[in-house]
Amino acid sequence: MAWDGSTRRSRLPKNWPSLRRRVLRRDKNLCQMPFSDGRLCGAEATDVDHVVPGDDHSMANLRALCTWCHRRKSAQEGGTAAALTRVRIDRPKPTHPALEE
Ligand SMILES: [Zn+2]
Repeated sequence: MAWDGSTRRSRLPKNWPSLRRRVLRRDKNLCQMPFSDGRLCGAEATDVDHVVPGDDHSMANLRALCTWCHRRKSAQEGGTAAALTRVRIDRPKPTHPALEE
């Protein structure tokens, strides 16, 4: 994966959960990603995106996005934003010793 071993992982501020809620409320839980014709996506937003990737966590640099738009944007940014919100679920399952045979 492109972002493995990256040191550019952005740090989220301590108040991120409340900041995130404020952004979603401000944007009425609607995806703010503009299409090429200027209309907004308008799908139900569940993600909060940094307009300019990095450490600017001001309201002006944050917007609500749906998962699909967020993923697409993250892919375009080379996965740096994806690393930010990505939850690792691919941990190897430890095998219980009693089951090993
Ligand atoms: Zn969208």
